[in-house]
Amino acid sequence: KSGFCAETKTFHGLRPTVPLPSPSLPLSFTSFTFSFLPSPPHSHPAYIDASTGHALSFPDLLSQVHSLSTHLLSRVSKGDVVLVLSPPGVDIPVLYFALLSIGAVVSPANPVSTSHEISHFISISKPSLAFATSSTSGKLPPELPFILLNSPDFRSLLEPLQNDYIGELNMKANRVVQQSDAAAILYSSGTTGRVKGVVLTHRNLIASLAPFVAAARTRTTPAVLMMTIPLFHVYGFLFVLKTVATRETAVVQTERFDARRTLRAVEQFRVTNLPLAPPALLALVRIAEEGGLEWDMSSLQVVSCGGAPIGNDLIHRFLRVFPNVWFGQGYGLTESTSGCFRTDGQEGTNYIGSVGRLVAGFEAKIVDPVTGVVLPPSSQGEIWIKGQQIMKGYAGDDKSTCEIIDHQGWLKTGDVGFFNGDGFLFVVDRLKELIKCRGYQVPPAELEDLLQTHRDIIEAAVVPYPNEEAGQVPIAFIVRRPGRDLNENQIKKFISEKVAPYKRIHHVFFVDSIPKNHAGKILRRKLGELASLHMTSR
Ligand code: AMP
Repeated sequence: KSGFCAETKTFHGLRPTVPLPSPSLPLSFTSFTFSFLPSPPHSHPAYIDASTGHALSFPDLLSQVHSLSTHLLSRVSKGDVVLVLSPPGVDIPVLYFALLSIGAVVSPANPVSTSHEISHFISISKPSLAFATSSTSGKLPPELPFILLNSPDFRSLLEPLQNDYIGELNMKANRVVQQSDAAAILYSSGTTGRVKGVVLTHRNLIASLAPFVAAARTRTTPAVLMMTIPLFHVYGFLFVLKTVATRETAVVQTERFDARRTLRAVEQFRVTNLPLAPPALLALVRIAEEGGLEWDMSSLQVVSCGGAPIGNDLIHRFLRVFPNVWFGQGYGLTESTSGCFRTDGQEGTNYIGSVGRLVAGFEAKIVDPVTGVVLPPSSQGEIWIKGQQIMKGYAGDDKSTCEIIDHQGWLKTGDVGFFNGDGFLFVVDRLKELIKCRGYQVPPAELEDLLQTHRDIIEAAVVPYPNEEAGQVPIAFIVRRPGRDLNENQIKKFISEKVAPYKRIHHVFFVDSIPKNHAGKILRRKLGELASLHMTSR
């Protein structure tokens, strides 16, 4: 009942396996997704803009994807990388589907990134074109051509096609997309070092979508899913595309997350499913606890959460104030495309704090991080996962790819956990360097590299510090150059000018030296303990 095989010492999914197309069949993720649409298409909207209420029907979605992809054929060759730097909007899934259908590689990045961060993304993925908005295009390097999403020119690319595009349509028919082709490059620091480009193939996306399609078959009425999670993160990227195959309506929140606005939209659009990052869950719970739930929540059936650890206390508080809503958890990494563990329906409340059971198509094992020995159920160790959803590798970085994926295809997650007797996984710790602030990745190495460019700093180490609102925040330990009077505020300002707001340093400790092991590795855990000691004695 735990899905554990004593012979191979691996866990496998307990859910029914979902048939996938033969891997050698030429197929883009867009064609696979659209193959689930009935003819004539559904009458409910595919996407709704939560701010304006503007709805995009399924026939209009198909027509816009068709027009846009046809226009882009002459500008984008197969395999070209296209950077997308935009706040969320209903045009974004249209753009993703169009690019994927012609074999372009979609590379969405956080629109609040600074130009410094964007140049790093560009040096990794080497895009030949970008899609931006008037608020983000100024951060692109001058040599990168871009198309403005919020412009009449872009809108004209979505208009239904005229006959003179027949030539392009023929070109489109000749552009064959293989499932093994790269589909997307997303940004993640993995288990160590700076941000890398995670290359996901069409096969990765297809294998990730299939379990959702299987689960949706049991639903009689279409779900209405509210997208509050960012569309550039793998979680939002996949969710905003999967709704088409699962015949859902996705309500896209186009403005900055605001819990009250989200709750109002739940009432307005009769939202049934609400995936959230942990800080958003906390915000919702607080409003409900303060008696501020002034909207009709009767449509809401499922709230799911993932992307960072969620405290048991918060889950209990949620269940107290939303007694009629199922709570689900999921666990995954950008490198695994989709969540590899998920609770379904009532399962979520069986084992509070568990991230759920393996998703169909994934295998997992628990490995002693020191000895490399595979451990039996109930033992705690590093979580390793395998499946067709695991990324192809890091763009142009074979060394980092080999460090995270072994020769048998096991992805070493850098997270620590254990399985219980029913096959539910509990994530208890993180071995890797990664800091997760508000669900976003903050790679310590990136901040350390930046700090070390300051002329008054000899050495720096950045570690996570617990924070109720954000989960974790980055704090820095600094060795100052003797005789310099650099202070905490100057350091914070130095960093905040160069990075996105969620990467800002919250506290600085000045030290004489950074503790390291004999191999020169920073003793991050020790620094975390030191910080706790200081903070509690204040
Ligand atoms: P990302 O690539 O940004 O999705 O980050 C993946 C990492 O987020 C994982 O390796 C975990 O450290 C963390 N994470 C994601 N989901 C969960 C969860 N439900 N519980 C604990 N940690 C999580």
